[in-house]
Amino acid sequence: MALAEYIWLDGAVPTQALRAKTRFLPLSAELPAPGDLPYWSFDGSSTGQAEGFDSDCGLVPVAVMPDPLRSPGDILVLCEVSDGDGRSHRGNTRAGLRTVLAAGAALRDAWIGFEQEYALIQDGRPLGFPDQGLPPPQGPYYCSVGSDRAFGRQIAEEHARLCIDAGLMYYGLNAEVMPGQWEFQIGYRGLAEEDAGLLNTADHLWIARYLLHRVAERHGVIASLANKPVAGDWNGSGMHTNFSCAGTRAPDGMAAIHKAERLLAHAHEAHIAVYGDGLEQRLTGLHETCSISEFKAGGADRGASIRIPQDVEGKGRGYFEDRRPGANADPYLVAARLAATVFEIDIEAATGMALVA
Ligand code: ADP
Ligand code: MN
Ligand code: MN
Ligand code: MN
Repeated sequence: MALAEYIWLDGAVPTQALRAKTRFLPLSAELPAPGDLPYWSFDGSSTGQAEGFDSDCGLVPVAVMPDPLRSPGDILVLCEVSDGDGRSHRGNTRAGLRTVLAAGAALRDAWIGFEQEYALIQDGRPLGFPDQGLPPPQGPYYCSVGSDRAFGRQIAEEHARLCIDAGLMYYGLNAEVMPGQWEFQIGYRGLAEEDAGLLNTADHLWIARYLLHRVAERHGVIASLANKPVAGDWNGSGMHTNFSCAGTRAPDGMAAIHKAERLLAHAHEAHIAVYGDGLEQRLTGLHETCSISEFKAGGADRGASIRIPQDVEGKGRGYFEDRRPGANADPYLVAARLAATVFEIDIEAATGMALVA
């Protein structure tokens, strides 16, 4: 027997939150396949996912990893939510991404990497902010060392270890521009044996977020994914999304990257609509962002919507970075939207389903 932590996305508006509950199950030492784990119900009226008179929702296991917070043999179980009739729940954005993949995106061999920024909050302000007034202005904090400028490192480090022990595609971490703000990346690491596809990587990011909240709990702080945790001259938190496909990685990949830029320029509003809540506070044109009402693509330009990294320009192939998604964006929606635009998949025509936040 071992402990299984069933994890799902709730029905909170405008930003879905993580929920989890634990079940003691007969498990062997081997990591089970999701399909071998039982379906489990929960009270959807307590999570914004059902009405009280018909409140049963279901948890359908879709991904399993070792639980690095408990004992060897215990597991984390990421779930999709089904409604009382066993159909996919209307808020199940993972199912939306599966639909886009099935409508043709899967054939394009897309890889993705997310840069998740977050702020560590205690007593209503980020770590490193004094209880009166403000810390010295931004400048020394990004990738900093020293206890006068790096605040909360122990949490970022513990989180890294947990992600690695859970087998996630953890890429790296750094202190960010605002005091108490950090980033970690999840996704493509150049390893042929890893699945850096859209679905698997987005699953990994959700589990990494779950682990981040649990580590922060231990330390009595909140890991905030708010787009603009502190108003004023302080960087917001984003979720830069790095994207490539067979076409962009081919020897003449730059042509495919430029084509993607043109398609993305036309679909700007549709992307902004699913790139997170409060995005207008972050995408101001200041603080290394492009204004929300503008679309700009550029090589190595951190004020662009889409940036082509310098080494990609040099090689003439590779990936591009979408700098617009906010820290609180849903990686399933971001991945689905990018794939639909770049691969010219009309989701509504293909499936009768709209891609909405
Ligand atoms: P930045 O310079 O923007 O801060 P980071 O070093 O934080 O970039 O993150 C780089 C990201 O790019 C990682 O998430 C990684 O997974 C992703 N990445 C690298 N190569 C590719 C690729 N070929 N396709 C998709 N994502 C990629
Ligand atoms: Mn980064
Ligand atoms: Mn960053
Ligand atoms: Mn970036």
